Amino acid sequence: MADNSQDLGTDLPLSSNVDQILIHHYVLNLEIDFDSRIIHASVILVLRETSKLKALNVPLQSISLDCKDIKIESVWEIHDYPTTIIDHLCSPIPCYQRRQMNSDQFNKLYRLSNDAKLKIRLNYHITKWSINIMPKTDCGHNLHERQPWQPRCICINYETNPQGGSLTWAKDQNEGPCVFSQGAAFNNRSLFPCQDHPTIIATWQASVKVKSNYTVVMSSNNVWSEQAEDYTMFHHIMLLPVPCSVIALAVGSFASSLIKVVDRPNINYNDQALNSKSHQKYTPENNPIICRIYSAPILIDIAYEKLLDSAAKYLVTAQTMLLSYPFDKLDIVVLPRCFGCLGLARCSYFSPCLIMVSPSLLPGEECLSYRLAHEICHFWFGILIGPTDWTEEWFSEGFATYLEDRVHCKACLMSEQDTLNYIEICCNLRYRSLKSELENTDLSLQELRPKTTMMNGKDSVTGIIKSALEPVKSFLQVHYLKGYFLLYYLSKIVGHNQFDDYIRSFVNKYCFQHVNCKEVFDYYFDFFPKLRNQEVTIRATIKEWLDNAGLPEQINLQNFECMGNKLYLQVHNEYKRWIRLNEYNRRKPRRIYRGSRKRRKALADNLPSIANLSIKQIILLLEMLLEIECLTITTLKKLCQYYHLENANPEIRHRWCELVIKHRYINGYKNIENLLIEDQGMGIYLYGELVLYDLKDLASKIYVGIQHEMDRDATAIVAELLSS
Ligand SMILES: [Zn+2]
Repeated sequence: MADNSQDLGTDLPLSSNVDQILIHHYVLNLEIDFDSRIIHASVILVLRETSKLKALNVPLQSISLDCKDIKIESVWEIHDYPTTIIDHLCSPIPCYQRRQMNSDQFNKLYRLSNDAKLKIRLNYHITKWSINIMPKTDCGHNLHERQPWQPRCICINYETNPQGGSLTWAKDQNEGPCVFSQGAAFNNRSLFPCQDHPTIIATWQASVKVKSNYTVVMSSNNVWSEQAEDYTMFHHIMLLPVPCSVIALAVGSFASSLIKVVDRPNINYNDQALNSKSHQKYTPENNPIICRIYSAPILIDIAYEKLLDSAAKYLVTAQTMLLSYPFDKLDIVVLPRCFGCLGLARCSYFSPCLIMVSPSLLPGEECLSYRLAHEICHFWFGILIGPTDWTEEWFSEGFATYLEDRVHCKACLMSEQDTLNYIEICCNLRYRSLKSELENTDLSLQELRPKTTMMNGKDSVTGIIKSALEPVKSFLQVHYLKGYFLLYYLSKIVGHNQFDDYIRSFVNKYCFQHVNCKEVFDYYFDFFPKLRNQEVTIRATIKEWLDNAGLPEQINLQNFECMGNKLYLQVHNEYKRWIRLNEYNRRKPRRIYRGSRKRRKALADNLPSIANLSIKQIILLLEMLLEIECLTITTLKKLCQYYHLENANPEIRHRWCELVIKHRYINGYKNIENLLIEDQGMGIYLYGELVLYDLKDLASKIYVGIQHEMDRDATAIVAELLSS
């Protein structure tokens, strides 16, 4: 057992003894208290010893669970549990059979923490990162004296800590209180004690008690509520076994939108690639998918208008490219502006049936709704197929990023050529981000496959995940961009459409399983037998990609600056016009010859307006202009007017702010302030730029005003930046 009492710094310990005992089902009972920012809670663990422990014929000594900053009140072993239900939940049956369980049975489990008559207190010991539970040895009435300890049902009563890092307590856009799980680096460990391990999965149910005007949204497949006089009880159930890390919660006085119903495509699941094991487990329901938006009341109309149709469109398309959506509902909840997951880097915190988004998705005539394509792809890559190891996050992020473009283009009914052009522009932008990040990131954080998950001895399941708690890591995009380019490289070898077939077949084969790099690449060569004679070379490139810092030579910017791409050509021409205009503006007045004012005006008037360039094109144009040493105030002013940059979506405004900072364009400082306050998830890089260009005072002034509501990791990074 790891000595978890020591401070592990930035490494995340895995402390659960999952090789000895497994939790098959969690019964969470939560009562939210917004005044004290505490959740009064109990969790019932439905568990069974592993076959490995049985085979060894050694008695269970203790149960270790991962938890952090939780105040444990008492731990009980329940003996009068409903045997049939518990056995049912622990048996390895297909999830569609579990659907036959009815709400009475779940209610029985939920009431067990109060109703149990035959229960015995257990001893426990708490360390910084875990709780160890064991039977009482000094108790005269100990039931375990003569036989080995084989607990099936354990109840832990506890309280969360207002400072616990798994939850964020905040004010929504209507100034109402809300709380949400924020995708912490240590997952849900300060929400409930659990076996927090990437490959350990369980079903769960949660009953959440709130005051009557609140709504509880969770990553569950089924939900119903009971209304009492002064409170509401929400019952959530998830019968597809999932890792604890993907359980998500958001509570607030949310308004909910009208629903949108998305049909399931008629997909033949019996194609040859279908693996019989996953087929047996996966019997999709044929009922349509219910999509809905939740947000603060003030945002609900705009959120409904801007997000729901896009989400439905992407969901339909993703299903035609992958498999049927594995759940019955899709909820999208718009969180307060401190929600960090729309950073340029930290793209997501994914959970089944639920997408949590930042309000930054909403502004701009053309908003960032295309980001939903990425999040939706995570239902397949991330949830349906998970990585065996959290350090291999490139897997889910790489595939979701690769697929987001494909899904977006298909959903927009783009032609083959337009799709290729569009993807090349996206590649160009991603390459620029990746390159600048590689230049500024510690080499050790650049490898896709760090050899750093250290287990405590051979065959051990406990250990640590290296650097998982490094705050800066949650803002890095190195992993998903490098992973993306690796997949892009592999797709170029065989062609995009063939690569789509490979992905679809891969999902078919590996759904409901955990995979690592090996499966991804082995299956690639299985699927494309023609590549056998190149396999050694390609594998060598893959290895270099995964194990080295930096980028392999196969990918460089020239790949994506092709004049044959009409989208790129438009940007390039536009760029040249701006450079010419800037040159005119730079000339000293005495050197301006007669008529130049007229010519300048003509030049400016000839510039196309925003309608002619897409979002991605404008972003690319701004990125290219960022490389120019000197842009005049007049040029910047015109640029801002022409593309309505002040009111554009935050991705465009972010580039605009970089230009403002680089050229110290004072009239644009209010745009910086606005972005850092309203789009906190995207602002983290701007603080760095402000410091770099000697505008630390401006950065500090803004930071002091909003630090109390900022995301924890973001606060840590910015505070360090500003104090340096
Ligand atoms: Zn993602």
